[in-house]
Amino acid sequence: MPQVRVRFAPSPTGFFHIGSARTALFNWLYARHNGGVFILRVEDTDQTRNSDEFLRLIYDSLRWLGLDWDEGPGKGGDFGPYRQSERASVYKEYLERLKASGRTYEKDGALYFRISGEPQVIEDAIRGRVERTEEKDFVIVRSDGNPVFHFVNVVDDIAMKVTHVIRGEDHLSNTSKHTELFKAFGAPLPTYAHIPLILKQNGPGKMSKRDQGALVEEYQKRGFLPEALVNFLCLLGWSPKDDREKLPLAEIVRLFDLPGVNQSNARFDEKKLAHMNMVYLHEMDPGKCFSFARDYLKSRNYFAGAEPEEAYLREVIALCQPKVRAVEDLPGFIGYFFSDEYAIDPKAREKVFSKGDPKARLGELLAALPQADFSSDTTLEALIQGLAAQHAAGTGDYIHPARLALSGTAVGPSFYGLLRVLGRERVERRIARFLATA
Ligand code: GLU
Repeated sequence: MPQVRVRFAPSPTGFFHIGSARTALFNWLYARHNGGVFILRVEDTDQTRNSDEFLRLIYDSLRWLGLDWDEGPGKGGDFGPYRQSERASVYKEYLERLKASGRTYEKDGALYFRISGEPQVIEDAIRGRVERTEEKDFVIVRSDGNPVFHFVNVVDDIAMKVTHVIRGEDHLSNTSKHTELFKAFGAPLPTYAHIPLILKQNGPGKMSKRDQGALVEEYQKRGFLPEALVNFLCLLGWSPKDDREKLPLAEIVRLFDLPGVNQSNARFDEKKLAHMNMVYLHEMDPGKCFSFARDYLKSRNYFAGAEPEEAYLREVIALCQPKVRAVEDLPGFIGYFFSDEYAIDPKAREKVFSKGDPKARLGELLAALPQADFSSDTTLEALIQGLAAQHAAGTGDYIHPARLALSGTAVGPSFYGLLRVLGRERVERRIARFLATA
């Protein structure tokens, strides 16, 4: 079998959305699974609708998702250039060939392709046999001199020796035009694989760029983990045929194949994506999580120039990593680690003061702090247990008031971890202040 060559062929005419990302991913997976070549080809012939900003977004999003291309802009390759706007001479040459074969004619300033009118049959790798007959000749060069999508798309697939065309089902209806052109050039047909649509979360219809949760850039900005988004995108139309949902990318590459792609449409489910993201976050290596979270917080200007010490931030992130659902929850979750100016939640306060003698317990804890061993969660747990035994109280009688005094809230990371990470000085200062003011 000749080497697999697939291409992702986006047009930089809009934001990079989930559907495009999935098409890119399925092409990338197919190339990696087969030891093939993944080409990025920019279909930017529509000068009125292209923008450099959208193009940059395509590059950024692909890089962020880890979908590295083997040939394409910035990478080179034997079949470049890889932007259609730079390939005018190639189109001219192919156009001459088509003209010479007598399959073109001019009408009203436009150049038409004369169809064969024969039934066009493809064996789609996902949908099976699809037959369609073109009934009308179609324009290949507009009256303004610009070649149309069908023409440049096919010419490039021929010139770039593309073996498999994996694209959205919305292009299925174009395929008979494309196969007519391939045959007119005497070129072998590629294998087609049309991926089913992504349906919007609620209600009927295809997900569009305007739908909530449709833009890849949003997830990047919100601190989603690209690995989680990639895993989620794989499952939009493909599955490993067992019940697994979270799969390492290497495993997906090993298992991915086109016949495994469903024929039915996939429904976008933002909750499922959020859950996948959480699972990835909780399982992430703490060192990686630290860098990722720090970059996220920096991108939000969270510390406003007053950055905490790295070792402290590292401990805070490690402590909170298992407790937040997403990196975007961190800012609201970690504030009190960096400032003494946190508000005391009135509901939590009411609850703490509704029973027992929280001030007495905090007084006992404060008195024990100078001798306390802050080196581990276990030693701190022993401290609280010792106090509880000594004063015939429960550990909760210390934990709840202390958490309130130290953070202003009733929710947060593990209590002993909280003591350890805040450290003796902060803990002493905050409890003393709370006792003086509460
Ligand atoms: N530029 C087309 C698109 O963005 C590519 C179609 C194809 O993959 O053949 O939909």
